[in-house]
Amino acid sequence: MYFIFEIAFSSPKQYIANLIRAYAKQQNMQMEVLQTPDKIVLTFEKEDEKLESFLLGLEEVLPASLFLGKGKHYFSDERPAVLPETKPDIPLNIAPCPTCQKEMFDVSSRRYYYPFTSCNHCGSQHPFLTKYPYERANTTMKFIVPCSDCKEELKSNALRQDYSLISCIECGIGLRMVDKEVEHMALNKGDYRKLFEVSGRAIASGKSVLMKTMHGYRKFFKAKKSTSNILLMASANGFNQHLMMVEQEFNALLSIERPMLRVATKSDELKELYGSSVLVKYPDDGMTMLLAKEILSAGLEYIAYVECDSDEEADFLVDFDMPINPQRDTKLFINQDRKLFVSGERICYPTKVYQPKNRVTLAHDLACVDVDGKKIIDSIELFDKVTTDEFYVLESEEFESGHSNEVRFKQYEASMLSVLAEHNSVGKKAIGVHFDGSLHFLYYNGKNVIDAVPPIPFESDNLWEKIATLREGSDRLVENYKKAYPKVWERLDNLKGDMDIFEVTAIALGLEDESLEGISAEALSFLGKGGLQIDTRVKDNRFDNYAFLTSIMSYQLGDVENAYMCYSIYESFGDYIGEIVPQLIEKVDTKTVVLTGETFANQSLYARIERTLGQYKPLMNVNLPIGKESGVYGALYL
Ligand SMILES: [Zn+2]
Ligand SMILES: [Zn+2]
Repeated sequence: MYFIFEIAFSSPKQYIANLIRAYAKQQNMQMEVLQTPDKIVLTFEKEDEKLESFLLGLEEVLPASLFLGKGKHYFSDERPAVLPETKPDIPLNIAPCPTCQKEMFDVSSRRYYYPFTSCNHCGSQHPFLTKYPYERANTTMKFIVPCSDCKEELKSNALRQDYSLISCIECGIGLRMVDKEVEHMALNKGDYRKLFEVSGRAIASGKSVLMKTMHGYRKFFKAKKSTSNILLMASANGFNQHLMMVEQEFNALLSIERPMLRVATKSDELKELYGSSVLVKYPDDGMTMLLAKEILSAGLEYIAYVECDSDEEADFLVDFDMPINPQRDTKLFINQDRKLFVSGERICYPTKVYQPKNRVTLAHDLACVDVDGKKIIDSIELFDKVTTDEFYVLESEEFESGHSNEVRFKQYEASMLSVLAEHNSVGKKAIGVHFDGSLHFLYYNGKNVIDAVPPIPFESDNLWEKIATLREGSDRLVENYKKAYPKVWERLDNLKGDMDIFEVTAIALGLEDESLEGISAEALSFLGKGGLQIDTRVKDNRFDNYAFLTSIMSYQLGDVENAYMCYSIYESFGDYIGEIVPQLIEKVDTKTVVLTGETFANQSLYARIERTLGQYKPLMNVNLPIGKESGVYGALYL
């Protein structure tokens, strides 16, 4: 009779299963760990007291994770199949695990206030990698020789067994702090702590600190009015006090993956600073985490930061000499129990994929390349030259491969295939909607993706001329608009031709953040019921950008408030999509619907789509972003 403990786990990432294995080893616990596509299964020989204390201890060392779900246990006569343990071969880029965090705040440890604390199952490993395969010799840590304590740990500490990036204050990366005149080097525990303490106090007193973190340079300061700030919440308690969140959002922000989330504001002070919503982050790497600790000690619950370059102006600089390769941070979207990665590289990549074709793919600087018989998707700079039968490159990518069999592909094709591949549906007919600024309706016949209803191309130059000739009476609207909003009229009269429809809309509405994100944020603050119908076309079924703009302008002249308008923009898109998709479904005889593109990460649009297309249970990316970064994977299936 075996005792089986199962935990739902929705990702192929192995760090949680590997951490459980290492912990079992450390505790001398006889057990086996199996990971399937949707769960981690722990098998124990028998149920006894030792098991009970093991499970309690496990709870302490396991981090919260985006991918972890509910657990259950049962007895079984059969032993679940066991797979051989594999050495971690792709570097992680997540927050420190509970055990590593404990070390960072334990004054007796060799890693007290050491921001580069990590183990086989956690931390910022990827930023140090210079090329595959992942081993110390291929990272910027190669010049650091581990001290004798670290060397000993490689054998004795189950969590850091053979860990490529092992280091501590004694042997590791030095930190320095620079103000206008003086440079302070941190040499021992006391110095490391002091450096973060001084930074925290400086910020609390209104100064800014430019800090090199494992995710690139960040400028930290006391939160101030701005749309481009990211709010850094230093304490978990602050979330409930200042932000309006559902449980799923709270859990996601605190998960070891530490995604970025747009959340509605609650406290008056945050409403005053950021309006109805703000991008939020919980400390996600050693540097930011140690700073946050000192921010709390200095009496602040949150601060703000911007991602920036090393030459950004600031009162203080905290720096280290080790070169790093930061990844683009990842935004998450949550609607009830559905979590979608919106955009970015971190958390989702690197990843291993299983696809037998001898093909290299490249899109948005991410490549899928074979390394020692395993296909890995990661930043192209990290791979050595390889030979391949075919080379698939995104059409907009500036990359000279010189390969005789180079194929250029379109974003929407690859996006659609990435979803079908994630759902094991490649080769089956499907309807697709790709919405990434512009909107495409697609049909996949099992072989090729066809742009079935393309948008009418949009050019933002000579805008007024195009609007005035749209239909009869449109010229009058242009005149009235010029009288009512002379400044906006002037700006729209001088646009360059390459702006997207949402930027132009945001300008017309006078939003501070002149982008889709700005419209999306404004829509979040609308609390009423919809009903405002924004025109999306003039003739045939194609989305007409000029009709859309004209409709918005006439509502503006009718004094409709911005939040209502922005909400209605998404609602109207939802209705439009909800109308076209069933028409296409009828024509081609399939019930499979695929949604791709970042624009879907919007509460009002998402809710509307649920209502109009919910019956088809539309497929979306699961482990990869719904945005452009999934293309590199989808291209494997074109
Ligand atoms: Zn760890
Ligand atoms: Zn050391």
